[in-house]
Amino acid sequence: MKVKKNLTIKIVIALILGITIGSVFNMYSGTDFVQNTNQYVFNVLGQIFLNLIFMLVVPVVFVSIVLGVVGVGDPKLLGGIGLKTVLFFLTTTAIAITIAMLLALVFKPGVGQSDLLHSQDVKKYGAEQKAKTADSAAPENQTFDQTLINLFPKNPLQSMVDQNMLPIITFAIFIGIGMIALGRKVEAVKTLFEQTNDILMYIVTMIMNYFAPIGTFGLVATAFTNAGFGAIKQLGMYFFVVLLALAIHFFVIYGGAVKLLGNKNPFWFFKKFFPAMTVGFSSSSSNATLPISLECTKDMGVRKEISSFVQPLGATINMDGTAIMQGVATIFIAQVSGVDLSIMQMVTVVVIAVIASIGTAGVPGVGLVMLAMVLTSVGLDPAAIGIILGIDRLLDMTRTSVNITGDAACALILSEREKNKLASEQ
Ligand code: ASP
Repeated sequence: MKVKKNLTIKIVIALILGITIGSVFNMYSGTDFVQNTNQYVFNVLGQIFLNLIFMLVVPVVFVSIVLGVVGVGDPKLLGGIGLKTVLFFLTTTAIAITIAMLLALVFKPGVGQSDLLHSQDVKKYGAEQKAKTADSAAPENQTFDQTLINLFPKNPLQSMVDQNMLPIITFAIFIGIGMIALGRKVEAVKTLFEQTNDILMYIVTMIMNYFAPIGTFGLVATAFTNAGFGAIKQLGMYFFVVLLALAIHFFVIYGGAVKLLGNKNPFWFFKKFFPAMTVGFSSSSSNATLPISLECTKDMGVRKEISSFVQPLGATINMDGTAIMQGVATIFIAQVSGVDLSIMQMVTVVVIAVIASIGTAGVPGVGLVMLAMVLTSVGLDPAAIGIILGIDRLLDMTRTSVNITGDAACALILSEREKNKLASEQ
């Protein structure tokens, strides 16, 4: 099954309708009609769409990584690709957060806004977080050693049930290496994986063709009915700086990298990847978008072995858009609090945000939770996250689109560069 030709247009119309209707509904959010329509129509359509794609995420990650490893064929070559991928991810994330902080320092979105610090939202957020830490083992604040240990699953099925991506990726890499080692003996298993992949991709295309426009409409309409543009007013400058940094990173860094490192036209790349961006925008989840992102890069001619390794890993550890939000938010909160961060503290923010981005799961809102770690590292009060909570969903939509575009750019560039090399190996 092929992705329908006019799908992108349909999704764009759905986005515009969702934003418009949601924003109008937000103005009348007290009425029964609006509340019922939002809960029983928009939300139901959106959540069904999300569940449909989430249903595929674990099998897609597992099967595609196994096939990616087997496809590369040579563990040494795989190591090379792995290293380049991680290098690309870390460098672009560090650039992203630097752009974000520089813009925030120039535009000063938080200067003269100290009243925000005393808002109800800050007190509420602070109290909620305290309660959470008191009655849980605070899994978000895992120590480094624990994170490292958890990369290796003691029970891979449990990781799958918990949708815990990194250990699933590790397990898949081992299965792939085992299959390479046993070669012809396990030919049938390889065929099984290939055919399972075909089935999964068929389902993805079917969901996209028949349900994506409706689901996108539902998700976006719900988000805008709940948040609306009204909330943006007071935080307008913060909102603007995040969007500007996202746009610069997207067009200049990804566009430049695709052109200079991959020798491809950036606008062709953006156009081809657009359907995935719209799903990233409406779902706010890199993980959920993964099946569609893989379809888009396949359409670009990216080698399957590379995309199926790079993109699932990227959806899990590469979050440039999230790092941008964290960079702007940190400077913004420092300005609101009247704190001048030193150069050393800013370097700390870059390092911690890069680490936080690796630890951020590709699901809605986690970037905000991880922001607490960045703020604490430079002595700012994490309760201040309450200030930006109200408008974060709208930014989450945009930054998720950027997050997944970074993964696809990396896959395209590596594929172009490795094409000749892999061909000569085979
Ligand atoms: N929603 C983002 C993603 O899935 C993560 C975040 O910034 O909250 O990529």
